[in-house]
Amino acid sequence: MNFFVLTLFPDMIKDTLSHSITGRAMKEGKINVEPINIRDFSNDKHNHVDDYPYGGGAGMVIRPQPVYDAYKSIENKVGKNTRVVYMTPQGETFNQKMAEEFSKEENIVFLCGHYEGIDERVIDEIVTDEVSIGDFVLTGGELASIMIIDAVSRLVDGVLGKAESFQDESFSESLLEYPQYTRPPEFMGKKVPDVLLSGHHANIDKWRREQSIIRTIEKRPDLIKNAELSKKDIEFIKKIGKYDLLK
Ligand code: SAM
Repeated sequence: MNFFVLTLFPDMIKDTLSHSITGRAMKEGKINVEPINIRDFSNDKHNHVDDYPYGGGAGMVIRPQPVYDAYKSIENKVGKNTRVVYMTPQGETFNQKMAEEFSKEENIVFLCGHYEGIDERVIDEIVTDEVSIGDFVLTGGELASIMIIDAVSRLVDGVLGKAESFQDESFSESLLEYPQYTRPPEFMGKKVPDVLLSGHHANIDKWRREQSIIRTIEKRPDLIKNAELSKKDIEFIKKIGKYDLLK
């Protein structure tokens, strides 16, 4: 999968993603991350990319021309139907479902704003999706796009090794993941649940499923209504007295 990032800070993108699992995926060619420096496309003799906002007010606004030309420089490579995602606090909030949807694309372009943002006309011209990473304001879209590239990459075939599987992970089936334990079997007087040491796979699966349900109900009760629940799951929810949450 190819990620193109239109940005004023290309080093931030490559440097951050070149570690750990995303770094390995880039080296192995499972993902390709290509930052495009918007500044390289400025037609201003001082390479300025921003200007004062019409109507006054604080801060600077990124001019439409360098953004448009930066996008045009990759349009041939990505094709006209590629999603161009503007990172903005005004967008739809990113979630795992969106990560799954993005991971099906072959190419995806992220547009990172800075300062007060980007001239609206170029957003209207090239952007297909507006995405936020939460209800807060960052200085720029770089960290937001990195976060999304990370979440999407790990869903791309071959990026995670067997040992790093995303099966059962939080938000799959709208449930949070069960608690995890590793060695030693006892730490500060706290023991790993016996069932996990039993080697009885059916019992372990049952325990994990129930723990997922309990966790979701305790930590994110808003999710449980949309969870993919079996008859057994519903029986269990009735048993723990939380059936009302499904109504
Ligand atoms: N003036 C803009 C507003 O109030 O909507 C905020 C501009 S912000 C300081 C600069 C850039 O950071 C934005 O253009 C956007 O690319 C990025 N950004 C800030 N917060 C973000 C968020 N929550 N999610 C995604 N991108 C964000």
